[in-house]
Amino acid sequence: MRYISTRGGAPALDFEGATLAGLAPDGGLYVPESWPQLSPDEIRAMRGQPYWQVATTVMAPFVEGSLSRDELIALCQSAYGTFSHAAVTPLVQLGEGDWLLELFHGPTLAFKDVALQLLGRLFETFLARRSDHLTIVGATSGDTGSAAIHAVADRANIDVFMLHPEGRVSEVQRRQMTTVSAANVHNIAIGGSFDDAQAMVKRMFADRSMTDRFHVAAVNSINWARLMAQVVYYFYAAVQLGAPERKVGFSVPTGNFGDVFAGYVAARMGLPVERLVVATNVNDILHRALSAGDYSQGQVTPTDAPSMDIQVSSNFERLLFCEGGRDGAALAEQMRGFEASKAMRLTNAQREGAAGLFASLAVAPEAMNAAMRHTYETSGQVIDPHTAIGLQAARRLREAGTIDSAVPVVTLATAHPAKFPDAVERATGVRPELPPRTGDLFEREERYETLPGDYEAVRDYVAARATAVS
Ligand SMILES: *Cc1c(COP(=O)(O)O)cnc(C)c1O
Repeated sequence: MRYISTRGGAPALDFEGATLAGLAPDGGLYVPESWPQLSPDEIRAMRGQPYWQVATTVMAPFVEGSLSRDELIALCQSAYGTFSHAAVTPLVQLGEGDWLLELFHGPTLAFKDVALQLLGRLFETFLARRSDHLTIVGATSGDTGSAAIHAVADRANIDVFMLHPEGRVSEVQRRQMTTVSAANVHNIAIGGSFDDAQAMVKRMFADRSMTDRFHVAAVNSINWARLMAQVVYYFYAAVQLGAPERKVGFSVPTGNFGDVFAGYVAARMGLPVERLVVATNVNDILHRALSAGDYSQGQVTPTDAPSMDIQVSSNFERLLFCEGGRDGAALAEQMRGFEASKAMRLTNAQREGAAGLFASLAVAPEAMNAAMRHTYETSGQVIDPHTAIGLQAARRLREAGTIDSAVPVVTLATAHPAKFPDAVERATGVRPELPPRTGDLFEREERYETLPGDYEAVRDYVAARATAVS
């Protein structure tokens, strides 16, 4: 499989190249040249198969030319063997036609583990082939950092430097990062806000004194391999509910548009998807874009669903490309306009293309809390704030008739409720317990460096510990 850039100005790469590159050199994102197709027979054959096996079938066409079937199987078995539930991503019923897909049974209790556990292993495999070394640098407000650290801890030829704003991540989130004792994991608490830390990371990616010596890389959701890994659970859930004979809807708590774009890929590959619900909180740029064609950046409002507090959704560019006639030059122009004015209109083709599959809704904080409470009262399930936004959107759109009431709707449960105990307790009166797998998180020794909010200090710290590649 070949991968092309959404902005049309970069050479096509194979899967290995696209995975190691992350962002394309023309600023675009890699997408497969064409969508592989799975026939109804191939989809039907997934019924009753273990997760790793469905994963192998779904991902094989995307990795063709870079991984053999046996390599892919070994990577999937290893990545999903780290999950604490035998079903990896179990499906739970809440009501008639109302389902939850629990994506939080990985090492850090958030759905990002599903993709990152595989990505860390892919990096290791490809780096060994090329005798290359990756210096991963990132800033985190909580979830992504811990999932990335657990994905690459002790992997050969990789170092990770993760910046978090000192005193501004929760204790659980901090400990999930700082109690990892692997020698290739470097946690740095930075004075200042998350945005300050993020700005330092951006500066490092543009700093020739660093990029000339080190293979500096990111692990954010613009990496195609992450999206590919997420396509799997759409198939896995849908076949349990009767696909390919029966259509299924999905509701996705959305931030960077990565998770829900994976649902779009599943549909393009032949999975009968009735509708994909893009559920946002008050940070509603995607709801405005999909319902009114208005993609304009607003101020970020902090909420109890912080992983969705986003006002620019990087992966949306992939949808605009695929529904805009796959015209890289035109999209590059459109994105330049957006970067200059922080606003753009979707074209008619983009709007109409998206309208065929997507629906969207912005959920206010009161409705999110009500959904947590109602779910607990009617099913005994304690859900996290992000999941509550997805469930609420699904229920509203069903009541409105946007989704046929005969179609089962699966809401993606993106985080374990114990990651957000205060918000959950306020809404439900129940304080969720951390699951046994987190064990002695509060007893383990923490290890991290504290540095001032000063770029040079961070740069020198990384340069003194990273491995040069040339
Ligand atoms: C990252 C995250 C999201 C948003 O996912 P995207 O792929 O960015 O749309 C939703 N919920 C939780 C808990 C997350 O960590």
